[in-house]
Amino acid sequence: MAMKYVQTTCPYCGTGCSMNLVVNDGKVVGVAPYQRSPVNEGKLCPKGVYAHEFINSEDRLTTPLIKKDGKFVEASWDEAYDLIAQKLKSYKPSELAVLASARVSNEENYAIMKFARGALKTTHIDHCARLCHSSSVAGLATTFGSGAMTNSIADIAESKCIFIIGSNTFEQHPLIGRSVARARKNGAKLIYADPRLTATGKQADLYMQFRSGTDVAIFNAMMQEIIKNGWEDKEFIEKRCVEYETLKGEVMKPEYSLENVEKISGIPAAQLKQAAEWYATSGASSLLFSMGITQHTTGVDNVKSTANLAMLTGNIGRPGTGVNPLRGQNNVQGACDMGCLPVVFTGYQKVIDEAAHKKFADAWGFPDGICAPQNGYEVTIMMKTLADNPGELKGMYIMGENPMLSDANLTHVKHAMEQLEFLVVQDIFLTETAEMADVVLPATCYAEKDGCQTSTERRVQRFRKAQDPPGQAKVDWQIIAEVAAKMGYAEQFAWQSSEDIFKEITSLTPSYGGMSYERINKPEALQWPCPAADHPGTPILHTTAFAPAMPDSKGLMTAIPFKYPAEVPDAEYPFILTTGRSLFHWHTGGMTRRSESLDSEVPTGWIEINVDDAKELGIADNEMIIAKTRRGQINVPARVTKDIMKGVMFMPFHFVECAANILTNDALDPVSKIPEFKACAVTVEKI
Ligand code: SF4
Repeated sequence: MAMKYVQTTCPYCGTGCSMNLVVNDGKVVGVAPYQRSPVNEGKLCPKGVYAHEFINSEDRLTTPLIKKDGKFVEASWDEAYDLIAQKLKSYKPSELAVLASARVSNEENYAIMKFARGALKTTHIDHCARLCHSSSVAGLATTFGSGAMTNSIADIAESKCIFIIGSNTFEQHPLIGRSVARARKNGAKLIYADPRLTATGKQADLYMQFRSGTDVAIFNAMMQEIIKNGWEDKEFIEKRCVEYETLKGEVMKPEYSLENVEKISGIPAAQLKQAAEWYATSGASSLLFSMGITQHTTGVDNVKSTANLAMLTGNIGRPGTGVNPLRGQNNVQGACDMGCLPVVFTGYQKVIDEAAHKKFADAWGFPDGICAPQNGYEVTIMMKTLADNPGELKGMYIMGENPMLSDANLTHVKHAMEQLEFLVVQDIFLTETAEMADVVLPATCYAEKDGCQTSTERRVQRFRKAQDPPGQAKVDWQIIAEVAAKMGYAEQFAWQSSEDIFKEITSLTPSYGGMSYERINKPEALQWPCPAADHPGTPILHTTAFAPAMPDSKGLMTAIPFKYPAEVPDAEYPFILTTGRSLFHWHTGGMTRRSESLDSEVPTGWIEINVDDAKELGIADNEMIIAKTRRGQINVPARVTKDIMKGVMFMPFHFVECAANILTNDALDPVSKIPEFKACAVTVEKI
């Protein structure tokens, strides 16, 4: 069989880099550049370069598994489907919960959303956006009327000043880092704020090292300085925003003086002043953030603060400006767009809205109706409900998620998951979560199916099938449709292809309404909103007005008082622990730890300790130590460095053998229900 190239999209981060999979004798054997992509122009980071290595891993699931007497035994699809259908039908809708996935296609997320709300009739559906950018969605939707990145990746190169806070862009979104580097080459200033001097910080003109969890104080201090100096954009505020006086009343309080915020955050007053001046006066400033902002009990407040700063200075709706949350997983934007959240159908149409509920109920045509017009549980609330109210939730269906490694306070998560009477997991590997399941279903990876995903810049791009799946593995939407058929809903899931599903999505989702496979097949694909077949897509949001959902289409400024994290250091746990990722690994490591090239670069986890802290503790570089919080303890090698702030420690969360999330705090933001991964109190001891 001849060698061929299949153009597709990288399965890792939300940048959405295009690439070619190299196929030989029907098997994917490599990755090659795809030059025509406007996003990455043929360039890839290490994860993209080696994105073929896990595909044919010997660990791939190849047959359905049913647990009998505590052990998995191989089963036929029919046996598995019969058991699943019989069990799921035995529960009330309110006793069932579903987790969709930021790693699979839009079509598959839509399929499981329809399955949850239509076949199971449950309102409890969520996915891992809860753990990364739920604060962005909640914070920006209430200030601008849309929770997505306002500008585009290429557009960042037009900026005159880029303010990155809580994102190691050069390592975690390297091809977005390329746009930042281009802007710098054109003379833009780069301001970087983070507790760690990362690869991104090393490129900055101004690096502000701060204590994790003090973001709101930093933003308020910068805004106070901007107003004091008259650097605010009065015309933008007057024409396009409301509640300026409310915002001003808060940020002008003495507690947000540069000197006081230096004490709170650790950032010298002169640096805060410089950052405020550069950001406010550049003429086109872009603000980039990631989970350093969102994963806090004040995550929504932090996000609203980014919006306040951008509106105050008129840095919205023009090239080179904007508030740009950099989405983590390849399709976390799409999974949100597809309604895999407990409060919305596709395109953020609210479940409690009578007209939207009727629209979906009528279009789907389930003879016995769909879920009640009610909001469901977030994944973090599902876990608390399982643990605290045994019997309220009984069955769970998980597609491509691994809460047993990704969620905060893993001891609690394990206890919660053990309360389930019936768990189905659909995945490509036997993950830590799949090991707990009653039924495991073998699914396909990105190289074995057609479909599309939506990147962080709202660009809807194609996946394309390059090889057949291993063994009996099936495409996720097909599995869901076949389970639904066993439950008596064959007609509602009678799709023949992913394109059939996409047509159903576009018919029900105004922001995707003008899209088709023909249009998104082009190298540049399309950015939503794209409401009509002749609409070119939208690279920049809010150019002349904020979303119609906002009163008078104006941006809402919000007074945000500063609050400390839920857990602060004390005598017993004297350090702040924050978590994040490595350049060479991806989330719970299912794919990257099965990629020899990536895993050999970084074979295990570590805890980063400031060099002065390590000296005081008598800890040497690479020494195995105990890290301990109120929730648990782990053994982990120390990485001693001067690049992390004194008093702060850092761990990546990919590694099961030293799982950072045994330590993290599951205290939640009251609005987004995101856990506080980025700040808890920790101590370390020698073994
Ligand atoms: Fe893949 Fe992200 Fe790297 Fe691009 S930047 S190659 S999308 S991991």
